Amino acid sequence: MFESQPGNDPVSRRLTRRAFLFTSIAAAAGVGLLTIRRPHRAFAEDATSHPGEPVVIVLFSDDGKRLRKITMPKLARSADEWQKQLSPSAYNIARLADTEVAYSGSLWNQHKRGLYRCICCDTALFSSDTKFESGTGWPSFWAPIARENVVEQRDTSLGMVRTAVSCKLCDAHLGHLFNDGPHPTGLRYCMNSASLRFVPHSA
Ligand SMILES: [Zn+2]
Repeated sequence: MFESQPGNDPVSRRLTRRAFLFTSIAAAAGVGLLTIRRPHRAFAEDATSHPGEPVVIVLFSDDGKRLRKITMPKLARSADEWQKQLSPSAYNIARLADTEVAYSGSLWNQHKRGLYRCICCDTALFSSDTKFESGTGWPSFWAPIARENVVEQRDTSLGMVRTAVSCKLCDAHLGHLFNDGPHPTGLRYCMNSASLRFVPHSA
């Protein structure tokens, strides 16, 4: 009687083992997909650790003129408030540190003169003066418009050691920083279009 039970003969045992292996691989792959889908959630939450603390940023006019340094309380909003303000993709990228698919954003091929502001808080982040064609499918710059306006932070997600770049005022995730950029800095700020709002110069 026991021998007639399914799963107790050698073939069934092999099938059961294969099913177990397949399930294990699928589960591992599922975990991997989830990890890729939400790679930096913990990092993003860590970055918003001090809402309300004073931060110094540099103000710029829409035509790219440096105005003055100001001290402001670090901007903090709830997840619900950010979701109401942002598109779903901007929320996933700027607030949850997701990464847009290469060549899918609106700004990688933008070559007009202008200013790139934070999609969340309008802080000036980059200028067309430092934008270059990196061939990566993401908008790339060799410097921020002001070092005071961005935060660079070690990011060990996805099994890699990278430098994540975020907005100083609101902690929006912007992208990552690499050391293979052009002259004069040798840096490549590899940004997500969804984290930026382009303001073309009027003249
Ligand atoms: Zn911001």
